[in-house]
Amino acid sequence: MHRISRRDFVRSSIVCGIGISVTSCMTKVQSTGQKKTRYIAAYDTESPACLAACRKIVEVHKRFEMPATFFILGKTLDANPDEYRQLLDDPLFEIATHTYTHQMLRDNDFCGSAVSMDERREEIFKGKEAVERVFERPCIGLRPGCGFDNALKDEPKVLEMIQQAGIRYVSSLLWGPDYSLPALLREPFNYKAEGFPDIWELPGHGWHENLLKDHNQWGPKRLTLWPSPFPQALPDGFCETPEDEFEVNKVFLNRALETDKSFVSLIWHPWSLHQFDSDMKMLELTFTHVQRLGMRPCTYAQLYEQVSGMVRS
Ligand SMILES: [Zn+2]
Repeated sequence: MHRISRRDFVRSSIVCGIGISVTSCMTKVQSTGQKKTRYIAAYDTESPACLAACRKIVEVHKRFEMPATFFILGKTLDANPDEYRQLLDDPLFEIATHTYTHQMLRDNDFCGSAVSMDERREEIFKGKEAVERVFERPCIGLRPGCGFDNALKDEPKVLEMIQQAGIRYVSSLLWGPDYSLPALLREPFNYKAEGFPDIWELPGHGWHENLLKDHNQWGPKRLTLWPSPFPQALPDGFCETPEDEFEVNKVFLNRALETDKSFVSLIWHPWSLHQFDSDMKMLELTFTHVQRLGMRPCTYAQLYEQVSGMVRS
């Protein structure tokens, strides 16, 4: 993608105005009381290259006083526990688990089949244990490797293990319908239908940013849905610059505000962000936009507290 196409420009102008987009959007937001949309910066931290990336990411977060949730793979954490603790042990950050070794907790069309129930148990329990051992604070959230297009619906055995482990929320809905991208702006829900009303699903939204840049080297792939439920969110090609990526992010942020969503959170990976944009310019552009829009930054744990009724917003 080079520049935003005329088609997308026209569409984005419908969402938030032309030229004076931010001012226009803010006026609308203030007049309709929509400014309560929360924004969560979240990172699936899952490979050796993530450590150097997190150093850069943390620097930007501290500069912007922007909270974040780091979903960390147990194996990645155990490879550098002291370094991660030193880097991320900060009141701004929530540390949650991304399982222990990224094995699938249910079948995923792109990432493969689920492992055995015993292995799934180990992924959940060991992942949580690693976070709590290294950071000496409770780990209440789990984002399964890759995520799914139907969250953990109809997976009562997995939900039971999650409950036994003491996990309070999962962030597993990370794809659009029929394993398409982007993941739509879905709201939180609980697993009452499966018999677990106390476990909440707090989805992720947008693209898995690594795929926007072909960082998995999949090349062209059948990834989008037709008819598209969100055509404005489909760039014409792979992102080539941090500005390209920001343009895609903006579509989700503006739409979340415009449609009065309770929150928006994009699916980011430190290794991929660093490989593409080692100065983290995209983060600066995105956080600046979030602040201008008047969104309320928080962590997934804080969103959980709100939706589960632990605190009033
Ligand atoms: Zn992952």
